[in-house]
Amino acid sequence: MTKNEAVSGISGYAAKLTELSDAIWDHPEVKYHESFACSLLSEFMHSEGFTVVTGCAGIPTAFTATFGAGRPHIGLLGEYDALDGMSQVAEVDTRCPVVKGAPGHGCGHNLLGVGSVGAALLVRDYLKAGHSGTVTFFGCPAEEGGSGKTFMAREGIFDDLDTAVTWHPGDTNSVANGSNLANIQVAYHFKGKAAHAAISPDLGRSALDAIELMNMGIQFLREHVPDGCRIHYAITNTGGNSPNVVQAEADGIYLMRAKALPVVRSIKERIDDIARGAALMTGTKVEIEFIKACSNVMPNKVLVGVMQKNLEEYGSADYDDADRALAKKMRDSMEDRDDYYFELVSEISDPELRERLLSDRESPIYNAILPCPDKEECGMASSDVGDVSWICPTVQCSTVTMPGGTVMHSWQEVAVGKSTMAHKGMLQASKIMAGTVIDALEDPSIIEASKAELTRRTGGAPYVCPIPKDVPVPLNL
Ligand SMILES: [Zn+2]
Ligand SMILES: [Zn+2]
Repeated sequence: MTKNEAVSGISGYAAKLTELSDAIWDHPEVKYHESFACSLLSEFMHSEGFTVVTGCAGIPTAFTATFGAGRPHIGLLGEYDALDGMSQVAEVDTRCPVVKGAPGHGCGHNLLGVGSVGAALLVRDYLKAGHSGTVTFFGCPAEEGGSGKTFMAREGIFDDLDTAVTWHPGDTNSVANGSNLANIQVAYHFKGKAAHAAISPDLGRSALDAIELMNMGIQFLREHVPDGCRIHYAITNTGGNSPNVVQAEADGIYLMRAKALPVVRSIKERIDDIARGAALMTGTKVEIEFIKACSNVMPNKVLVGVMQKNLEEYGSADYDDADRALAKKMRDSMEDRDDYYFELVSEISDPELRERLLSDRESPIYNAILPCPDKEECGMASSDVGDVSWICPTVQCSTVTMPGGTVMHSWQEVAVGKSTMAHKGMLQASKIMAGTVIDALEDPSIIEASKAELTRRTGGAPYVCPIPKDVPVPLNL
């Protein structure tokens, strides 16, 4: 079986993959609660002849599905978690939840997991035809706010891999060539003393005051951290709704990001000090709870080149008038559009291509194949794919599953998550990922060179998980 024969097998799996993705869209589950998606996909992989291990790293909704024998061992990463409060009726161009307040697939992870499953099936067929090597699909929970892969990485789940391949649903056909931000998330729990706010305020110690002072300290800190750092917060407990009570408890969650882990670690230490200072000022006590962290993505030029070649080889999915009509309808409902495509295209050095793609910007689907950017940019988001990329060379692409300019984590993204446009983009991603994996199976120099590049970039330092050993997986986040 040739690579192209294996990859063209996708048409035989299209109906089943579409059904799996739609079923996950219909049962959105948030971080570490993805029991429906995990059972659905792990049972499917078992039925397809993969060896399935569930409950990886002590996480009930994580699993691996392996096929083949010997080296190289290549991983395909999948996700299936949804986002809180994002429930939305499919293909309706007004905000309209299926169930008010319920979760929804606002990041397209119903497609993400199943697209990688599709690639694993194609690689399995290739291996079955007498080629040596091993492929593992990783069912990774809690990408959104839970760093599932980082906890899996801490337990060595990715250690045997020679390389890892993944994708993300998006509004461009492109290969990611750059890094993003490492992050750490910490909860600060303040405890004070309740008292009548008018009769005996002198006897009270306000935990809410401590949170306010902590935030003030952080506002002053912002000027003294490197450019490009981010510090976000949510006050998760204000201590109650009665202004005539001195609030005896208050809690906040802080999310800190920077381009490199050592920087984000030092920001965390400074914020810990600010919290201790706020407690001292208010006569309260603070408990610091490390929730989770993830590493920045380590780009890999060698693998980016291989995946770009596959992206160009298999091209864009074939979107039709119905896809364009839906995309236009949804896009007309957007008050704001994401200019990411515009930014990518304006960087293209070939003036003719740049002008052509810029003029495409008004079409509702950006189905051009973007060239690989010359520069490695640093995106401002974070992903737990970062941790895998420090362990083995890792690469990811995006294919078009949503209208051009769709804002990630928007209800419009949920609304198109089980459209034919989304299905087509997902199946195209399966092909591009499978092609990339098969190239790496066929040519050992790809893995060799990508590993040498990783060693060069890390200086040969071994991966150190940013989450301390004693931090439990936050299964009830
Ligand atoms: Zn997301
Ligand atoms: Zn995502």
